Amino acid sequence: MHNAERIARLAPTVFTEFTLLAQKSGAVNLGQGFPDFDGPEEVKEAAIEAIRAGQNQYAAGPGAPSLRRAIADHSLRFYGQSIDPDTMVTVTSGATEALFDALLALVNPGDEVVLFEPFYDSYLAGIELAGGVAKLVTLRPPDALHPNQFCFDEAELRAAFSAKTKLFLLNTPNNPTGKVFTRSELEQIAALCEEHDVVALSDEVYEHLVYVPAQHVRLATLPGMAKRTITVSSAGKTFALTGWKIGWAIGPKDLRGAVQSVHQYVTFATSSPMQAAVARALSLDDKFFASLRVEYARRRDLLGAALNAAGLTTQPCDGAYFLLADPSSARTESGEPFPGDFEFCRYLTETIKVAAIPVSAFLSPAGAKAAKPLARFAFCKRDETLLEASRRLANLVHLR
Ligand code: PMP
Ligand code: GLN
Repeated sequence: MHNAERIARLAPTVFTEFTLLAQKSGAVNLGQGFPDFDGPEEVKEAAIEAIRAGQNQYAAGPGAPSLRRAIADHSLRFYGQSIDPDTMVTVTSGATEALFDALLALVNPGDEVVLFEPFYDSYLAGIELAGGVAKLVTLRPPDALHPNQFCFDEAELRAAFSAKTKLFLLNTPNNPTGKVFTRSELEQIAALCEEHDVVALSDEVYEHLVYVPAQHVRLATLPGMAKRTITVSSAGKTFALTGWKIGWAIGPKDLRGAVQSVHQYVTFATSSPMQAAVARALSLDDKFFASLRVEYARRRDLLGAALNAAGLTTQPCDGAYFLLADPSSARTESGEPFPGDFEFCRYLTETIKVAAIPVSAFLSPAGAKAAKPLARFAFCKRDETLLEASRRLANLVHLR
């Protein structure tokens, strides 16, 4: 056995399994969250221009100056947050690298990281590689008391913080639940971070995919939070360019310095021409960003109607590009209920030929045992793709 012990608990990601299964089965892939359309033409042109203009050698390690400036301008335009592009921004290979850099830079072996479950799957891997310990707080599906969105219990959140807590890891808008944390929820989180002198790592990659009436609030803009928050975002979601892998971390000088110290040895710098193009993307006019809210809400409703027509109840979704559906009334061809969400999603992919991701992939084993099975469907797809999925989903069999 040549492997280091630190990789022993890193399971293959659910996205690899289901994208391969979708390809093999000829399924419409509503599993892994990537658009089946391209980002804006002028942004693609900007990348081509940058390549032709010879921007093909290493970028500055912390990021191309034009992109760092564009990130600072974007922060001021959308959040009134003033940041110094030279000392407060590091450009990374996607948000994924920014998250890993931050976890490796801040978490000592044995330190605790508080986060909600379900969680985006790379978080636990990052905490694990840093030697940290995840303290999970449950986000509960809507119920009679809170019919409109996933909620947490404030006492449970408070109980997760201790003298060992080093970091609070947030994701708003949230993958996979579609929850957009409200200002008052963020205030509760901020108060706990202040009380325990904890750094917040806030993954806001879906910051522009938020549907009326929800509003995205940047955690770092709450009073007292700028000095203790690393905000992570990415061009992948906002500009439908997930394959470009340009992300960034924003933070006060000391925290950004910690991220930068890992980044310089992990990748040193990320793709020069793509950074030039993302600088152009971030300066698109307000109309572009406003159109995302309308367009994606329309796609959400199209998919929601298809899932409901196929007999699946859906959870409310205020942000990001996923809908969660309850498979409990669905039946196998022999009339049996599905034992869990993995079995349901495999059947859906292989037999109905629509791929979805089981939500238990975003839960701890204990969380998965306690939770109702749910399947996650991505709606960042062309209308024709969603309509084809809808036709196929009509073949699902239900308990009558
Ligand atoms: N965070 C969340 C919540 C995500 O859903 C994703 C990806 N889909 C990422 C981070 C990773 O972003 P990137 O592709 O920029 O690395
Ligand atoms: N974030 C995307 C999702 O949740 C997938 C990214 C990946 O494949 N790692 O579907």
